[in-house]
Amino acid sequence: MNNLLDILNKSVNYLEKQKVKNARLTAESIIAEIMKMERIMLYAEFERILSEDELKKIRGKLNEVVNKLKEKKISGDNNFENTVKSEKQLKLLLDKSIQYLEKNDIVESKLIAEIVFSHVLNIDRMMLFTKYRDDIEDEKIEKIRYFIQKIGREKFPVQYLLNEQEFYKRKFYVDKGVLIPRQDTEILVEKMIDILKTKISKNQVHPKILDIGVGSGIIGITAALEVESSYVLGVDISEKALEIAQKNKEILKVSNIKFLKSDLFENVEFKQFDMIVSNPPYISLNEVGIMSDDTLLHEPSEALFAENDGLYFYYEICQKAFDYLADFGYLLFEIGYKQGKNVSEIMKNFGFKNIDVIQDLAGLDRVVIGQKIINKIES
Ligand code: GLN
Repeated sequence: MNNLLDILNKSVNYLEKQKVKNARLTAESIIAEIMKMERIMLYAEFERILSEDELKKIRGKLNEVVNKLKEKKISGDNNFENTVKSEKQLKLLLDKSIQYLEKNDIVESKLIAEIVFSHVLNIDRMMLFTKYRDDIEDEKIEKIRYFIQKIGREKFPVQYLLNEQEFYKRKFYVDKGVLIPRQDTEILVEKMIDILKTKISKNQVHPKILDIGVGSGIIGITAALEVESSYVLGVDISEKALEIAQKNKEILKVSNIKFLKSDLFENVEFKQFDMIVSNPPYISLNEVGIMSDDTLLHEPSEALFAENDGLYFYYEICQKAFDYLADFGYLLFEIGYKQGKNVSEIMKNFGFKNIDVIQDLAGLDRVVIGQKIINKIES
């Protein structure tokens, strides 16, 4: 049927299909103009049959609108072409890199691509956009390509490639052989600093801290830097970890930390620590299946997995920690989100008091704390 309402609806459909914005309003305006009517009066005369001539005019107008839109798009694309002057332009290369990473199932592709670009170009990630139109030198493009391909193809963690990861607002050197610092661990570190500052420092001019499984050194070094009067000992069974921790000590110019090769407490002689802290391997062997490729392929499995449902090191450390703590000393662990109850239980069984489980921002159990209390009143 060719009545007004019918034509109006057909026109709206057509414009919508052609992706014209405000399709109904546009169709109404066109028809009202051709019919020489007020737009709001159209619906009062919805049954009116339109003549061939009127239909032809409406068709013509509709096509005019659509063609104009197409032209605009093309000239818009031309503008885009103009902004991308060459294949070396930052924005173009960045977009290509993001696409490539996405195709290779890399999570947070945009972030990772930006990290690589800002590293190679030596500008803050947040400032990258100010250089979008700049050309990148060939040598740097080569570097970027190498990094992006390594990440995409080999699932190589960007942190190992660039040898850095931020932790607690400081840049740490990282490499294969140590765990990449996780944000989760900042919960443990925050708690550790809080206890050191508000509790331990009240009675101890020089708090003594032991970091077991020091890895890259993030926990021990952060303690040493945040509480300058402290003395920290970091132990690890891995030579490579100790090398990297030492490197971080130098980079961050820390004087109050020492490292020692030791299988847990094996070579530790001092027995009056005010705090023992550890982020031990705690992932259950059953959980291999849910780990991401980059972690499984490249991070040290001995820093991740533990026997006994991931609880092995909590037993081992709790068993001895009592002997190595001063009275009122604290034991702090990072834990897996399902281990709060078990680790609390282990601590309790080994005589720890004031046990507390702390959650991360997602509400998951992340840290367990206990205290060695022998005398009732703190001296
Ligand atoms: N202490 C280091 C960290 O928290 C290493 C921990 C580990 O390897 N399990 O990152």
